[in-house]
Amino acid sequence: MKTPPACDSAVSTPGLKTNLLGLGEQKLIDFFENLGERKFRAAQIMKWVHVRGVTDFAQMTDLSKSLRERLASIAEVRPPEVVSRSDSEDGTIKWLIRTDGGSCIEAVFIPENGRGTLCVSSQIGCSLDCSFCATGKQGFNRDLNTAEIIGQVWIALRELTLPEAAPNNRAVTNVVLMGMGEPLLNFDNVVEAVNLMMHDCAYGLSKRRVTLSTAGVVPALDKLGDVTDVSLAISLHAPNDELRDQLVPLNRKYPIAVLLDSARRYLQKLPDQRRKITIEYTLIDQVNDRQVHARQLAELLGNTPCKIN
Ligand code: SF4
Repeated sequence: MKTPPACDSAVSTPGLKTNLLGLGEQKLIDFFENLGERKFRAAQIMKWVHVRGVTDFAQMTDLSKSLRERLASIAEVRPPEVVSRSDSEDGTIKWLIRTDGGSCIEAVFIPENGRGTLCVSSQIGCSLDCSFCATGKQGFNRDLNTAEIIGQVWIALRELTLPEAAPNNRAVTNVVLMGMGEPLLNFDNVVEAVNLMMHDCAYGLSKRRVTLSTAGVVPALDKLGDVTDVSLAISLHAPNDELRDQLVPLNRKYPIAVLLDSARRYLQKLPDQRRKITIEYTLIDQVNDRQVHARQLAELLGNTPCKIN
């Protein structure tokens, strides 16, 4: 197993304090109830941290002074650290972000047609080794924790939203988990993070605007609809098992028919039966871009509510 290189020698050390950035609503309620506080404190903290971007408990003025002091002694709000930012002429912005331990991940903001899509990572490296993917060549290092996943959204909003803008006037309108890593192999942290993205006291994004992209970890996909209702994208990239076995080795374990069955079951669990899966199909010259592939794809997806990207 190879390890992605650290961004530089400066290594941040995880604190001994509880990082409230990475706690979803129920975990925050548990945290405050353990302190003998009422559960509405969870919503107060979520608004300070995620909506207003405040990390200093002293500024959280609707908490009592004694609670603020207590929180400062046992907890923290610690987003991951931005190492660098690169702005392209077309408006795309890439942040290199250092995680605990020193390895770096990337978050990418892509503005297009009145939308702003943030692509976030879920793991450092990836174990799935898709043939066309640079991340797969790095091997797997570790899962990101919830604070490191939601922290990418926190960072982008702080850097992109003007302080005077209304809370709902934000540059990030969509989030896609399509960066480094396979989200369904980091199930609990990813679910906690996407549910924060959609929570009204945090980022308030619609379930149609938060998309989890998977190469097809079927057992985890079968559980996903029980805990969240994000939009789903499948990294298909091939219309038959023979080719997909080469491009996405996970296909040897969960072939296309098994994966699409699971994806349709996910859709069936959603309250809104009009929702569709996004099928990701990267055209690779002379590999998966022939007419025969297009015909196979149309036949394959005939009974799956989907759009192809
Ligand atoms: S699952 Fe995604 S990140 Fe992992 S190797 Fe495949 S394309 Fe790359």
